[in-house]
Amino acid sequence: MSGAENGLFPMNYSARQKKLAEALSLARVTAIVVTHLPNVRYLCGFSGSAGVLLIPAADRPARPIFFTDGRYTQQAADEVQGARVVIGKRAAWAEASVKARQARFKVLGFEAEKLSYAEYQQLAGLLRGRSRLKPLKGTVEQMRLTKDPAEIGRVRAAVELGANLFPSALAAIRPGVSETEVAAELEFEARRAGADGMSFESIVASGHRSALPHGRASVQPIPGNGFIIIDWGVILAGYCSDATRTVHVGPVSKAHQRMYQAVREAQLASIDAVRPGVEAAKVDQAGRQVLKKAGYGAYFTHSTGHGVGIEVHEAPRLAKGQTQKLAPGMIVTVEPGIYIPGDGGVRIEDMVLVTGSGCEVLTPTPKDLITL
Ligand code: ZN
Ligand code: ZN
Repeated sequence: MSGAENGLFPMNYSARQKKLAEALSLARVTAIVVTHLPNVRYLCGFSGSAGVLLIPAADRPARPIFFTDGRYTQQAADEVQGARVVIGKRAAWAEASVKARQARFKVLGFEAEKLSYAEYQQLAGLLRGRSRLKPLKGTVEQMRLTKDPAEIGRVRAAVELGANLFPSALAAIRPGVSETEVAAELEFEARRAGADGMSFESIVASGHRSALPHGRASVQPIPGNGFIIIDWGVILAGYCSDATRTVHVGPVSKAHQRMYQAVREAQLASIDAVRPGVEAAKVDQAGRQVLKKAGYGAYFTHSTGHGVGIEVHEAPRLAKGQTQKLAPGMIVTVEPGIYIPGDGGVRIEDMVLVTGSGCEVLTPTPKDLITL
């Protein structure tokens, strides 16, 4: 077991590679060159920053090969499972394309949404016309949509670690203290608790800045009165957490009480809508209706949620027009908000697992309004 995985919930990489190989056969592709690192990690366990996986279709008698460079010789030996490791002199994707040419892979699939135009041109050049490049969209992401039990175990562990940090953020909040100090407290405690890192730049947005949906922690001192949005997440054994709580400094006005209650009711309404078979857009609609009725419709300016796994933002999206049906094993955030410019904002975000009959809220942090 590699260091990056902390021995938590071992993954069956070979089974994933096999499933992908079968999908490639159906798509009439000879092989795929996987360059998107989260997909590489999902398929073989490699957690470094340079590596490419070449996976032949199920009807080809060839084994998957993982390419990296000399910096990752030891790490690849420790982490990569189910694939032969090749340490190359060129960039890993260049090595992979030369191999595809030599192996006479006629149709080479690539991740159309992840490869840059320059990389595509170089890849095509190295193939010298012997392999045709075929753009594939979301082939691996489709597999990552639903999490297997080991992945769910890792996400649960990340969510728990993340939730345990919240009291340290609360303890740091005082008028006059900068937002970055609160973020620093969260991040210091995350590392002490063994997190690989934060899953995104922590958001600590106080006073008028709480009306910025993505108000990254700034050096602004926390004012004596108003909301503070804290949105934070950790990575543990390669899996992310993501949660938001909004607290209040100083006496809470009637208007702020109403705002908070509306977001809380909207969040519960959306969570209520999460179950297998329901379209993602319905979950968004359920909370949005509550906010509209309460007169805040114009102030909910983003979508309701997103999938979380190896990446902190992945499929599915819970937004208007999204026809993706939810299925057991999907893990999504539910995070409605109200943002009133010149006043402040409220957002409440939990991570939710779609189960066989409904859903389970993974985030354990209470949602009553905390005043400091
Ligand atoms: Zn978040
Ligand atoms: Zn989120």
